[in-house]
Amino acid sequence: MSSPHRLTELDKADAAQRGRGKYDFRSVEKQVQVEWEQAKAARAVERDDRPKYYCLSMFPYPSGKLHMGHVRNYTIGDVLSRYHRMKGYNVLQPMGWDAFGLPAENAAMANGVPPAKWTNDNIAYMRKQLKSLGFAIDWERELATCHPDYYRWNQWLFLRLLERGLVYRASGVVNWDPVDQTVLANEQVIDGRGWRTGAVVEKREIPMFYMRITAYADELLEALESLPGWPERVKVMQANWIGRSEGVEVSFPYEDGSGALKVFTTRADTLFGATYCAVAAEHELAARAAATNPRLAAFIEECKRGPVMEAELATQDKKGMPTGLHVIHPLSGARLPVWVANYVLMGYGEGAVMAVPAHDQRDFEFALRYRLPIKCVIASKTGAYEDTVAPWRDAYAEHGITVNSSPFDGLEFDPAVDAIAGALERKSLGRKRVQYRLRDWGISRQRYWGTPIPLIYCSKCGDVPVPDQDLPVLLPEDLVPDGSGNPLAKTPSFLQVRCPRCGGAARRETDTMDTFVDSSWYYLRYACPDNQRAMVDERVSYWMSVDQYIGGIEHAILHLLYSRFWTKAMRDLGLIKLDEPFVNLLTQGMVLNEIFFRKVDSGRIAYYNPADVEPVLDERGQRIGARLKADGLPVESGGLGTMSKSKNNGIDPQALIDQYGADTARLFMMFASPPEQTLEWSDAGVEGAFRFLKKLWSFCDKFSQELAEIGGLAQIPWPDAVPLNEKQRDARREIHRILLQANRDIGRHQFNTVVSAGMKILNVLDDAALVTLPIAKPGTDQAEQADRSGRNAVYKEGLSILLRLLAPITPHLCYWQWRELGFGPDVCAEPWPAPAAAALDQDEITMVLQVNGKLRGEIVVPKDADRQAVERLARAHEAVQRYTNGQQEKIKRVVVVPGRLVNVVV
Ligand SMILES: [Zn+2]
Repeated sequence: MSSPHRLTELDKADAAQRGRGKYDFRSVEKQVQVEWEQAKAARAVERDDRPKYYCLSMFPYPSGKLHMGHVRNYTIGDVLSRYHRMKGYNVLQPMGWDAFGLPAENAAMANGVPPAKWTNDNIAYMRKQLKSLGFAIDWERELATCHPDYYRWNQWLFLRLLERGLVYRASGVVNWDPVDQTVLANEQVIDGRGWRTGAVVEKREIPMFYMRITAYADELLEALESLPGWPERVKVMQANWIGRSEGVEVSFPYEDGSGALKVFTTRADTLFGATYCAVAAEHELAARAAATNPRLAAFIEECKRGPVMEAELATQDKKGMPTGLHVIHPLSGARLPVWVANYVLMGYGEGAVMAVPAHDQRDFEFALRYRLPIKCVIASKTGAYEDTVAPWRDAYAEHGITVNSSPFDGLEFDPAVDAIAGALERKSLGRKRVQYRLRDWGISRQRYWGTPIPLIYCSKCGDVPVPDQDLPVLLPEDLVPDGSGNPLAKTPSFLQVRCPRCGGAARRETDTMDTFVDSSWYYLRYACPDNQRAMVDERVSYWMSVDQYIGGIEHAILHLLYSRFWTKAMRDLGLIKLDEPFVNLLTQGMVLNEIFFRKVDSGRIAYYNPADVEPVLDERGQRIGARLKADGLPVESGGLGTMSKSKNNGIDPQALIDQYGADTARLFMMFASPPEQTLEWSDAGVEGAFRFLKKLWSFCDKFSQELAEIGGLAQIPWPDAVPLNEKQRDARREIHRILLQANRDIGRHQFNTVVSAGMKILNVLDDAALVTLPIAKPGTDQAEQADRSGRNAVYKEGLSILLRLLAPITPHLCYWQWRELGFGPDVCAEPWPAPAAAALDQDEITMVLQVNGKLRGEIVVPKDADRQAVERLARAHEAVQRYTNGQQEKIKRVVVVPGRLVNVVV
């Protein structure tokens, strides 16, 4: 990857001076980082015989400074990158900035600074922070999505997708602030009012651009099965979001013969239980009925102001009003009323439902409230029909047997659906259909700080795409939004343009793209960030797919789905040869901390940062409360919660780095819990990590001094070449055993146990029993000489294992001491340690213990133990005792696979 940095003699003398004695992490980390930077140690090049490993952490939004979640995310990525490099891979670990978005506009409004300046300042600060953590990032590949070099390709691809019909224009509903005359993002609408003006927000239909992600719905769903390296729950979330459902489209003819109300149902077996139909407030039937009904019109307006998110809809009060219109049941001929209901979504299905109160909970609640009939048409397979329906507390939503549905009675779910769909089809009033919950992706944002949509509107030529040679459409970087709409629309130098076709006066599109566009393909651009002539090139083929992607679970749906769509769309445009962008996905857990608060005036709650709070202890040192340091008055504990601004329980990583150094921060993060689980912040944990590193440092340091007296590490043979006494042999075996386990753990991303392996190895080495003698003195007798050289050999090998094992996690200290001890110039470029068979060769072996074929533990048996002896030990094992309640007669038989496992069958 790079040649080792050569130090000048002066450097060496200086380093030696500074490295001695105390663990001075500040100067060590700073100097090591300078060396890495000079040596371009993390530079990734494509010409390489090693297998490639592309390790990617989700790029940050440049909000101002790193938070603890970032530190955790990027430390995991860095540990994996460094580990794989030592395992012999050609590693790429890039970093960039998801730099467009609303916070920059809000900050601009608050401070009067253009978003570009705010963003670039933040990037500069956060880059410095990342560098101070010692991440092995190839900074030559850094990108920011707000740079024209990057977003021009958003525009270029947008035009390609437009040509293919994968981008289209349609009207979409937005939040409209009538006072500011501007579109609001969902997060700018608070309790139905504009965040700035307090005006009641209206829903407005405006033309928007959509990406046709639904064209890939089936592939996006099916290909989830080709991703064994993804967490199951992420795949479930994606599948639910795509929401493929097989069902039946049913037409209910209008009573007046003017057409039919179309609904989609996955429960055609309950068709005969429909007692009314309900439509969304935006449905054309609702509008038709409201024309002559002012009360209904008012109700429809109220619904339109309500929530648009499905989750909120599910919990809101179910409200409705009859339209006065009726439809005819397609099979029974019954006359059913049509209601407008706030729980029916226009965006899903047909914006209308057939309501079956007996077998759908929402319909059931609605029917109870408005005293609509409830008709049971499904009986449970086992119980009597009355048992399933009475008393009327809830809908019976399970599959069962059709009743009250003549001539379709007595059928189970599948045959009932088939028969009813067949009957509908014969009357041309329905058919089987597949439906998706997934909608096309609306990418137009009426905002300034984003990628300009490359379109020009000419009164003569209509919509004219910006020609490729005129890309990028540059976003002016000096505007300051004031909250009253998109400043691009008020900037003539941007807005006014010549039509590329006729040369006449024309106007630019002022909408910008959703920032999810930016993050949908940045991982490709890291492979070729300097290509000015093409979006991607052959280097993308070399690096892609991403071998390990790491980020928060909050991106489990949209970002990952859009990226997968984008990859497939680019593949179909012939730009890349790739079906899926991310082979393995790791979603790291949240960082938690205790929440402290006080109830202040009128029930308001004030939160206090844990750094400003101290514990109140009783006489035995037990914590009995907490108080604010500033006033000494008590605060209440709200338990653990995700670090957040709103709860004021965040810890600034910078304070941690300043006080303890990057290695301690990294070690704590990796030691406190496995990557996928939540991490509880703990001051004691941080101090413990620091103490361990100090101990490791001084151990290395002491050995270094001894080495200096005997002429350096080269004078000490490896343990295979010297006789070891029993203690030393045991210690060596123990170290290799720990290593064996650590290698298994790191493969499973259990970095916490890798850290504890490092701690155990240091304890083994630091055991006083190993040191049978004080430091060498000339003229000691032969036995002592042998003991000492044995000990030194174990030290040498043990430290070479320990420093390599911890190098991915605490790279600064390990890099420094590796060189100080004389192992070589760069521990990070050394091969990963492997346990030596000779060291593990032992008198006892460990066998897997199973009970009824399931792993229940391990047993240690003498190497030469026969089957009977192994069986005796297995029967006596506490796991087996537990399963048999200590009753040996419960054991049916014991299967012994010599040298490997014992299976106890009970
Ligand atoms: Zn024109």
